[in-house]
Amino acid sequence: MQILIIGYILLVRSQSTRGGVMQKYLKYILGLIMVLCFTPPAARAASSETAFDQQRRQMIESQLQARGIKDRRVLEAVAKVKRHLFVPASYRHLSYGDFPLPIGEGQTISQPYIVALMSELLALTGQERILEIGTGSGYQAAILGELAKEVYTIEIIDFLARQAEGLLKTLGYKNVKVKAGDGFLGWPEVAPFDGIIVTAAPEEIPAPLLAQLAEGGRLVIPVGGFWQELKLVQKVQGKIKESSIAPVRFVPLLRKKAPQP
Ligand code: SAH
Repeated sequence: MQILIIGYILLVRSQSTRGGVMQKYLKYILGLIMVLCFTPPAARAASSETAFDQQRRQMIESQLQARGIKDRRVLEAVAKVKRHLFVPASYRHLSYGDFPLPIGEGQTISQPYIVALMSELLALTGQERILEIGTGSGYQAAILGELAKEVYTIEIIDFLARQAEGLLKTLGYKNVKVKAGDGFLGWPEVAPFDGIIVTAAPEEIPAPLLAQLAEGGRLVIPVGGFWQELKLVQKVQGKIKESSIAPVRFVPLLRKKAPQP
C-alpha cells in the first residue's frame, strides 16, 4: 500500500515539472487502482469517528512515541487535531498511515511523524508568535494553533490557501491567520517571529526568514534539492547557529513569478 502511495506521489510531483503522456495515464491508472483497492468495504469500517480516534491513538504510540517524540504538549495537540478532516475524501481512510498523502495541486500533507518532529523542534510553551510557510491542508497550522499563541501561515497556491482558511475557521482556530502569497519573503508586517517553520524545501535558507526571526527564535526548515536535510536554525545574540536534524523529502519551495511589465 505504501509503495502504491509513494509511487503515486512521485508521479504527481514529476508531472508538475515535466509533461509526458505516459506519465499522465500512469497517474490516472494508479489513482484509480488506489481508490478501487482502498474504498469499500474496509474504508467504511475504518472511517467512523470512533475508528479514527482509535487509529489516531495508535499512530501516536507506534509512529511518534516509538520514534522518540516526547514533548507532552505536541503529543496532546496531535491527539486533539483530527487529521482526517484535513485529508481529501478519497484518501480519508488512510489519514493515520505513516506516510504523506496527496492534497491536490501536486502537493502533499506531510507524514505525521515529520509534523510532530518539526513541532517539537520549535520548543513551544504557548506564548509564541509563529510563522509557517506552506499552509497546504492547514493541518500543521492547526497543530501550531494548539501549541502557540499566534500563528501566521502563507500558502502560494490560492485554492489551497482559501480551502485551509475555511477549514481552520470552521474548526475555531481564531489564533491562526492564513495569507495567499510567496512565503519566501516572509510576513514582514507581523515580524519578528519566535518560531518559523517551512514545510517546502528551498535550495538555500531564504534571507528574509532569517531577518524575521526574533532573538532566541528557532527556524525549522528542509533545505536542498532531491536530497534534503531538515535543519534547526537558532538566532543567539544576533548570530545564526545551524544544526542538521535528519534527511527528509519535501515538495520544493516555489517562487511567485515577477509580474510582466
Ligand atoms: N504544512 C502542510 C504541508 C504542505 S506541503 C500541511 O500540513 O498540509 C507544502 C506546501 O507549501 C504546498 O501546499 C505548497 O503549495 C506550499 N508552497 C510551496 N512554495 C511556497 C512558497 N514559496 N510560499 C508559500 N507556500 C509554498
